[in-house]
Amino acid sequence: MSDIIQLLPEAIANQIAAGEVVQRPASVVKELLENAVDAGADDIQLIVKEAGRSLIQVIDNGCGMSETDARLSFERHATSKIRKSEDLFAIRTKGFRGEALASIAAVAQVEMKTRQHHQELGTRILISGSKVEKQENCSCPAGTGIAVKNLFFNVPARRNFLKSNPVEMRHIIEEFQRIVLAHPDISFSLVHNGQYIHQLPAGNLRKRIVNLFGPQTNKKLIPLQDLNTDVIQIKGFIGKPEMARKTRGEQFFFVNKRFIKSGYLHHAVMSAYENMLSPNTHPLYILFLEIDPARIDVNIHPTKQEIKFEDERLIYKYLSVAVRHALGSIAQTIDFDQEMGLLRATQMTHTPGKAKPITPSASSNPTGPSPSSPLSPRPAQQDEWRKLYEGMQTPAENMPPPQQEEGEDDGLIMLESKLSGSTENEHEGKVASTAGKQPCQIHDRYILSSIKSGFMLIDQQAAHQRILYENYLEKLDTAKQSTQKELFPRTLECHAADAELITEIMPQLNKLGFEIEVFGKNTFIIHGIPAEMAANNQDPVAILESLLENYKHQAGLKLPLKENLARSLAQSAAIKPGQTLNPTEMQLLIDRLFACRDPYNSPSGGRCFITFSMEELARLFK
Ligand code: ADP
Ligand code: MG
Repeated sequence: MSDIIQLLPEAIANQIAAGEVVQRPASVVKELLENAVDAGADDIQLIVKEAGRSLIQVIDNGCGMSETDARLSFERHATSKIRKSEDLFAIRTKGFRGEALASIAAVAQVEMKTRQHHQELGTRILISGSKVEKQENCSCPAGTGIAVKNLFFNVPARRNFLKSNPVEMRHIIEEFQRIVLAHPDISFSLVHNGQYIHQLPAGNLRKRIVNLFGPQTNKKLIPLQDLNTDVIQIKGFIGKPEMARKTRGEQFFFVNKRFIKSGYLHHAVMSAYENMLSPNTHPLYILFLEIDPARIDVNIHPTKQEIKFEDERLIYKYLSVAVRHALGSIAQTIDFDQEMGLLRATQMTHTPGKAKPITPSASSNPTGPSPSSPLSPRPAQQDEWRKLYEGMQTPAENMPPPQQEEGEDDGLIMLESKLSGSTENEHEGKVASTAGKQPCQIHDRYILSSIKSGFMLIDQQAAHQRILYENYLEKLDTAKQSTQKELFPRTLECHAADAELITEIMPQLNKLGFEIEVFGKNTFIIHGIPAEMAANNQDPVAILESLLENYKHQAGLKLPLKENLARSLAQSAAIKPGQTLNPTEMQLLIDRLFACRDPYNSPSGGRCFITFSMEELARLFK
């Protein structure tokens, strides 16, 4: 048989490699900004058009490149940052794989102008789909300017895969934030479609954070007392617990000035905040870890966002101690120096060769879900639920009708307002006489309700989410809903990325009953919120923030916009564990749940209720 294996042509190999490095416009932004930082620039401009689809341009005043280097920089595995294999263990630069420019040039039309400071003339190169179309001398400012046009022009599948402009822009802004926070000594600007989104002068870290996230951030910053050990240095800022937001957008780890994601380190920080945060709020943290590059491996991920630490347990402890100390809570528990001493002792006895094997952050996250009990009965079958109560005097019949408030003929609205806990239960005495039939609440979390064959346990949060979710989906398909005007309109100041998102979903928010007005850069005025939420005294800003957070969280699921929105809002607005319900409210919740199209599952797939039969119970007692 004749030989069939061939080496891939360079252009195809580059395109394949590009698949790893360049997933979307934001990946290009990240690589180009990193190169500019590596080039020693102290002023970097980012210009994008159409969320990077038509143009991503980065202009820096860094070292620039010689004519030969300019041409070589687009070759795969061409880098000035690594010469010998030992260099791999001492990486201080952002790049080192020499893949970015080659990958970008494989899937876009690129124009580069670059000049070294001591040269009079610079070089201009045009490359399209890996093909060099022109290289010539040119006059240009010292430094490098790269314009990436028509990304994925030759890979239609990739281009079609891109999300809407606001979504892609959000990713770009996120990458921008990660770089500018790591380099407050460099001035940056970001222009989108001819408008400035950020202009950040060089300064210290606090100034950078405040410039980036808005003036209101200043008062929530708590500086970390710099921690210096042989293994690690930690510095940065954390946020005051009482000023934690419903959105998670202000949490950053940098290791050697490289932004990283780590569920494990996140847990270390959150453990320090234990019991200090209101439910579902996320504190700010912008933390910088400096670790000897030999003790970490940044080369496990093509975009280098995940890294391996030689001893992550020790880092976990240092981090949690440093944060607790900053929060002041340490004073009551254990003396900081004493604790540091303890940690140092641990470190001494720790032999590098026997380090705990490094595990990916997800699997080492100590908060992983515990397996569900094998005793858990399965949810009732689809056609069976109606029969559950058959032949039973329903609790509702035993109870006085729920109080009807004027103008609120919609049972759901009433449920919402009653669920706010604001209405006293005046029926308690009468209801108590029907004990055994009326639902009862367990640990303010589950509702126990007798059914013909036994009993059922309803998860109050999941059930309420299901009810709201179906309701919101319906609303999104119909005309605009009733809005409750706020007496004092509230202002929501958010990050550029969240502002893009609000703008994107504004029409749908209006349909749901929000009334939001754009008010200058990254600021919105909330004039009204859905009537039932107003009746429930819910805080408009908190609702919107948590809505955004849920929405972003679910972005990975690629749900249709409406569905994501309905889900997100249901999650934000639903009652939570810990909310006490009176029997009337519980019964309403049950009735509403079983009026749903799918009462079995919460919108995110969890069970709303489980049933136990008398036989099962009897068996358990044997
Ligand atoms: P890496 O950053 O991994 O080395 P890249 O493909 O991103 O790989 O860049 C290749 C080389 O091109 C770099 O090592 C650097 O020498 C040079 N280079 C890229 N961008 C710039 C820039 N903005 N200024 C100066 N040199 C640059
Ligand atoms: Mg690079």
